[in-house]
Amino acid sequence: MNMIRTPIIAGNWKMNLNMSQATDLVRAIKADTRLPEKDIEVLVAPPFTYISEVAKAADRSGILIAGQNMHWDYSGAYTGEISACMLQDVGCTHVILGHSERRNLFGETNETIDRKVKTAVKTGLVPIVCIGETLEQRENKKTFDVIKEQLDLSLNNLKTAKSMPASTVLAYEPVWAIGTGKTASPEQAQEVHEFIRTWLKQNFGPDTAASVRILYGGSVNPANAAELMSQQDIDGALVGGASLKPDSFIKIIHYND
Ligand code: PEP
Repeated sequence: MNMIRTPIIAGNWKMNLNMSQATDLVRAIKADTRLPEKDIEVLVAPPFTYISEVAKAADRSGILIAGQNMHWDYSGAYTGEISACMLQDVGCTHVILGHSERRNLFGETNETIDRKVKTAVKTGLVPIVCIGETLEQRENKKTFDVIKEQLDLSLNNLKTAKSMPASTVLAYEPVWAIGTGKTASPEQAQEVHEFIRTWLKQNFGPDTAASVRILYGGSVNPANAAELMSQQDIDGALVGGASLKPDSFIKIIHYND
């Protein structure tokens, strides 16, 4: 963690919870964390159908709301899809893009993610762009090649324009660590985060590289959060399973207490 970048603890709820569990969860976080007093950003990404109510329940708490995905176009004949403006309309400030489950289960490619990132930025939503290698790629010593390719292609529009908003968030999520209980060691994670920071510097300059937050995701829990967050280039956590219960998520928010 670096003092100039405010850490972010983000909960990705995926396709879990029902309406009352979702609103109860955000109320519990709100009751526990006096965010304006804490030098931390807390964000939750509920399923689309709960976003409005979660945003209402989070009212004036400072808790940020993200979509878990969106379409790259602004409107049109895309049955089942959600646009950036629709997310904003119901209270989202952020959107998770390119999560490995979207890439692996729903055929998302670096190219479609790139289009979505461009639209999110144009619309004023902060993209949280996910990247990460599989176990096979890590074992074949391809981690850095894969990360570089994902960065080059998923952020191609921004790279070509040589402009990335300072608020942009990247999330390094090794696929082998997501939902498996296997966490990257702090050193393994830091090594990749440092690589990503260097890539940012090369493509967008030192100021952008110093501002963009890079989150770690993959089986983060109350027991491992503090050590991961102590690394120089780890600026927060994207939390799946442990974000679904107030107790564990709130403990992660308080990793530094
Ligand atoms: C995720 O899906 O973004 C994630 C990190 O999940 P988990 O914390 O459950 O590994």
